[in-house]
Amino acid sequence: GEDVPLRFSGVTKSYKDGFTAVRDLSFEVRRGQVLGLLGPNGAGKTTSLRMLMGLIRPTEGTISVFGHPATPGAPVLSRLGSFVEGTGLQPHLSGRDNLELYWAATGRPLADAHLDEAVEIAGLGTALDKRVRSYSQGMRQRVAIAQAMLGLPDLLVLDEPTNGLDPPQIHAMRQVLQDYAATGRTVIVSSHLLAEIEQTCSHVVVMAKGQKVAEGTVEEIIGTGGAVLLVVQGD
Ligand code: ATP
Repeated sequence: GEDVPLRFSGVTKSYKDGFTAVRDLSFEVRRGQVLGLLGPNGAGKTTSLRMLMGLIRPTEGTISVFGHPATPGAPVLSRLGSFVEGTGLQPHLSGRDNLELYWAATGRPLADAHLDEAVEIAGLGTALDKRVRSYSQGMRQRVAIAQAMLGLPDLLVLDEPTNGLDPPQIHAMRQVLQDYAATGRTVIVSSHLLAEIEQTCSHVVVMAKGQKVAEGTVEEIIGTGGAVLLVVQGD
């Protein structure tokens, strides 16, 4: 119900060409968890997150966010913040201006305290007032992630947030996500790299060819050793 941030129940997505990208997917994410969706390219991670964000509809099954179906346009989707790769930042504007511009597009008022908290958690620091074009890839990624955090959403959805980041940046991301979840909010993040999920998440759902092949805590999944690794080394 209301107290479960996210529940996939028997979710299947078949595209018009008949290809089934996600098949009978069920899992739950609990409050305060950082859940990693792990699987090789084409496993169905992005399709799953797009359904969660209400961008596309499942063919079968339901996705509930705090007990409400995440159908396109559903009011409960305002409790989500999302990051997808290639979020366009304006290079000639500062990080702060980008955040404000992004939020203005939502038509919702932005509390200074929320901006400050997102900036703090994302670790943007004083660079926030420099132009985005002077930022490293990691800093740009952080601004885009801060965008997703701006309204302090109860459920933060990040598609491959560690893509293109170097090991120190991935380590920093771990802190960002764990700090965010430690505030009692919930995070779901996808990656095709076990090492990234291992670094940043508390729980894992492993996907291959559209299906869930394993789930558990990071320790449990690492403990399964070879079996899961073989599955996720698909690319
Ligand atoms: P990636 O890391 O590449 O994003 P993924 O695990 O996120 O991988 P998806 O993007 O969900 O995987 O894609 C799953 C499968 O669905 C892929 O084989 C993809 O080609 C297919 N697919 C995605 N979108 C469509 C579409 N609109 N029509 C047909 N097939 C699609």
